[in-house]
Amino acid sequence: MSEQPGGKDRPGPDDAPEPRGGTARHRVGPSAGPDPRSAEPPPTIERYDDGIIALDTMTGGMSNVTAGYLLDAPRPTLIECGPAKPIETLVAGLRSLGMEPDDLAYLVLTHIHLDHAGGAGDVAAAFPNATVVVSEVGARHLHDPSRLNRSARQVYGDLFDHVYGACTPIDAQRIVGVADGDTIDLGGGRTLELLYTPGHAKHHVGVHDSGTDAVFSGDSVGVKLPGMTHLRPATPPADFHLEAALHSLGRYRERSPSRVYLAHYGPVDPPEDALAEAEDRLRLWASTAEAAYYEALAEVGAAPTGTELDHVAETLRRRFADEVDAAVLAEDPDAAGRLELLSGVGSNAAGLVRYFQRRDDGTLTDVG
Ligand SMILES: [Zn+2]
Repeated sequence: MSEQPGGKDRPGPDDAPEPRGGTARHRVGPSAGPDPRSAEPPPTIERYDDGIIALDTMTGGMSNVTAGYLLDAPRPTLIECGPAKPIETLVAGLRSLGMEPDDLAYLVLTHIHLDHAGGAGDVAAAFPNATVVVSEVGARHLHDPSRLNRSARQVYGDLFDHVYGACTPIDAQRIVGVADGDTIDLGGGRTLELLYTPGHAKHHVGVHDSGTDAVFSGDSVGVKLPGMTHLRPATPPADFHLEAALHSLGRYRERSPSRVYLAHYGPVDPPEDALAEAEDRLRLWASTAEAAYYEALAEVGAAPTGTELDHVAETLRRRFADEVDAAVLAEDPDAAGRLELLSGVGSNAAGLVRYFQRRDDGTLTDVG
């Protein structure tokens, strides 16, 4: 595995645990293996000091792209599963942790973008007792993913087959559509609360875990991949909505969480600093894009020509070039690919420009 997003060194297994709020983690081996000597842990699994277990989905064949998080509760629960294409890695990781087919109780999805939820049908098939928890809007698309697959194929092009793979349908009876404030009982007094957190996507939900007091923010706080010096907002088309995204960050801050777990990738600490940085960087990206957008419009006499997007993307690319540590890029063959796959400047620029256009057209709705 490459280095931790927070830039701290990985502690050895004998290191004392860090205090609450630290990001101590260590790799874990199979929990139910009869012979611990054979327990060479899969490289895709890490356990943090609050007991949360990250499984690397190996999206796009790269490490540290999208994490699934296993909550080891009386009703074991996975938050996010990554795309369909590499799902066998995730399922094998769960099995190596002693999860039998009947064991998984819930799969919780923050939103239905394919890098988070694409493999949900495969996980549901591998774990037939699991209930899939997703926003009310997302539920019908997981039951009948034909529209989701069609639009994803359009957006992703070749990447659809090479990186993501098609979603398979899930029985409606196995899907629970949730709204803001709904809870899931994990047993033993532990609950998950779903927080409606639109902005990145209009159907996005974050997850607050009463057991650890951590939040799982999906894409609503941004991404921080190995080698990135700052949290980067994820502002893709077609839903991105600035005010909604800022409001959602406030929802997390109200919780004073013990930790924020990003889907891409891992915990960011300390959580209050991470949430403050997420807001600062979102405002900075948006204001930089906004200035570039209106500058481009002014040049062409206020009638959009389609070249505004190029100008915004180029401006963002220049302005935020220092967000990635060049030394890490040079060392880590996956670093550039990861970044482009998940939070490329082109995608962020397109989402921001669409947001400005909708705002100017008067077609922006309150939350997305
Ligand atoms: Zn994502």
